[in-house]
Amino acid sequence: ACKFNQGAECAFYDAVILKQMNREQELNLLLDEAIRNHDFLVYLQPKINLAKQQLGGAEALIRWQIPQAGLLSPAEFMPLFERNGKIRQLDLYMFEQVCIIMRKWILQGKELIPISVNLSRQHFYEADFLYTFDAIAEKYQIPRNFLEFELTESIFLNPDQIHLVKNGILKMHELGFKCSLDDFGSGYSSLGLLKEFEVDALKLDRIFFLDIENKKAKDVIGCLIDLAKKLHVAIVAEGIEDIQQADYLKQLHCDFIQGYVYSKPLPVDEFEQWASVWQANHAASEVHID
Ligand code: C2E
Ligand code: MG
Ligand code: MG
Ligand code: MG
Repeated sequence: ACKFNQGAECAFYDAVILKQMNREQELNLLLDEAIRNHDFLVYLQPKINLAKQQLGGAEALIRWQIPQAGLLSPAEFMPLFERNGKIRQLDLYMFEQVCIIMRKWILQGKELIPISVNLSRQHFYEADFLYTFDAIAEKYQIPRNFLEFELTESIFLNPDQIHLVKNGILKMHELGFKCSLDDFGSGYSSLGLLKEFEVDALKLDRIFFLDIENKKAKDVIGCLIDLAKKLHVAIVAEGIEDIQQADYLKQLHCDFIQGYVYSKPLPVDEFEQWASVWQANHAASEVHID
């Protein structure tokens, strides 16, 4: 600690700390203001049910619209908010926006589709966090089974946290929410997790599909799909960009595909247009299937 003004070194040290404190405060203010101004946007990306060729759901992905600077993607700012814990506030904001969108669809008489939101692992340190999400869903009267949490597999990095996550998933199901394991296979997951946790869906990371021409890669994907079927867990293939990948996944009876091959994540109004075009184009063909 620095008493009085004891010399240049100490003053310098103080200046650094002060600067850091200011940055933190600045960041907090920036976040609050951005939330107030609705500078954080929900983008939606469709998940297509392969067998039915129907819109099976959507994932909500955050974007930050900075006036003058343009649109930032989560990789550019999430790590920042992950470090200072503000990410929980952002997740809650996204969740509430999703509930607002769904309430609008209900009022418009539209059929609901499930929407998933990404959940930072920081939430799990608070025992009762799910009640906060549940209260928001209650406020907008959204059927819980249309709301899904995506947990990235890095959530299991810390072994001490595994029981917290386990309890969290139990609570999610108790409250009626769905839960999926995101980025499966991209790094930390082990197959062992599948026997520990009751998730509703596995999202296979795009890394599996990058060389789908390769025989070994095909076998691995095929086995994972079979495994998921045995466990009664739905499979979502993520990051599918071309039609060959999609066709192949269909042959393997993969349940859902999410990727640029169908659509990039879209602003909500564009997503709604996209969805109605998709539904119009696929309602007719459905009659002829089987
Ligand atoms: P994620 O949950 O695995 O989301 C999928 C990412 O893959 C998205 O990136 C999406 O735009 C991208 N993607 C989808 N289809 C394709 C494709 O065909 N090809 C390629 N190359 N990429 C595709 P995005 O939107 O940049 O999000 C990155 C990550 O940021 C997400 O990965 C998620 O972990 C995190 N994130 C996004 N929104 C939120 C949020 O509201 N809360 C939290 N905690 N994390 C979020
Ligand atoms: Mg996700
Ligand atoms: Mg993912
Ligand atoms: Mg990812």
